[in-house]
Amino acid sequence: MRGFVHSSTPSRVIFGAGVVDGLGAEAARLDARRVLVLSGPSRRSVDRIRGALGTLFVAEFTGARMHAPVAVTEQALAVAREHEVDCLVAVGGGTATGLAKAVAARTGLPQLIVPTTYAGSEVTSVLGETANGRKTTRSSPGLLPETVLYDVDLTLGLPVDLSIASGVNAVAHAVEALYSPQVNALIDAVAHAAIGLIVPALAAVAARPADRSTRADLLEGAWLAGTCLASADMGLHHKLCHVLGGSFGLPHAPAHTVVLPHVIAFNAHAVPDVTAGIAATMGVPDAAAGLAELIGTLGGPTSLRELGMAEVDLTEAARLAVVAPYPNPRPVDAAVLETLLRDAWHGRTPD
Ligand code: NAD
Repeated sequence: MRGFVHSSTPSRVIFGAGVVDGLGAEAARLDARRVLVLSGPSRRSVDRIRGALGTLFVAEFTGARMHAPVAVTEQALAVAREHEVDCLVAVGGGTATGLAKAVAARTGLPQLIVPTTYAGSEVTSVLGETANGRKTTRSSPGLLPETVLYDVDLTLGLPVDLSIASGVNAVAHAVEALYSPQVNALIDAVAHAAIGLIVPALAAVAARPADRSTRADLLEGAWLAGTCLASADMGLHHKLCHVLGGSFGLPHAPAHTVVLPHVIAFNAHAVPDVTAGIAATMGVPDAAAGLAELIGTLGGPTSLRELGMAEVDLTEAARLAVVAPYPNPRPVDAAVLETLLRDAWHGRTPD
């Protein structure tokens, strides 16, 4: 018999094609009068967002940067104060969402998020920030965005390499939820549904990147995977990626893509039934090997070396990953993790 504590996320979720055009009504629903739009420097979709907000739009800040540097948050806060905004809209991937959460953490402003990748941050109450070369996370119900508008049309142009990496990032949330201390029948069902939507869609999106039906599967799967991330404590995989991104500057989704097959193979020794279930949902004999093969076939990153990690940093990464480790079904120590990271650095077959 298992015991668990389950928290579900109370965000309002609107999913479909063209739903971003309802943003003005959604902002008004939150009694917003003065909206600040947050994005990365590309300003992708910002003009459409401004149009949808109409007279509610008062300012934009386009400086969002990956891993939410506190210095960038301070700049966005200055804009928010200058324009006396009463609501935040973020459009983009987890980077834009992270900035919205960081500003909300300091102001209490409500957030409407328009995700354009599969990162899942928009449905979690977790914020990861970086300062002085260290990434720290905090979690509070107040950080959870009020409304998420998943507009599949805004994802049609996400480049294939980013789509594969971000899709595998989402798979990682579902995988780690399945062996988390909180796993229950609901998480089990949602995580398998996420994997079952995302994995077949990865190959399909590589073949036809602008196919709306495939993109909808990926986006819906990413939402489900995000709810797993929100409800369950993540394990070794997320700890390693947290260190690789926060302390060594590796890009978030590509780092997840390289590391996930190695962690699945590592944890398979402790949770063979869970891993077999993941393989069955994926439709492959072995989850780690099947995922590694899929990533390789689709041209995704397979080594930490190609992401710019220095080999000399592997020992320090392993050391950092055992400081305040995340719960994991198989015990870890720095030596074991250094071996795993070295395999991932070389792009060896996970085992
Ligand atoms: P990202 O938001 O940085 O986006 C990656 C790249 O894709 C960027 O260059 C961006 O401009 C581009 N892009 C985004 N949408 C696009 C589109 N539709 N078309 C073309 N290009 C597009 O990366 P990400 O992987 O989505 O998010 C990573 C960040 O999110 C990290 O900081 C990570 O820590 C955070 N995150 C937090 C949580 C959480 O629960 N707190 C969960 C997941 C990720």
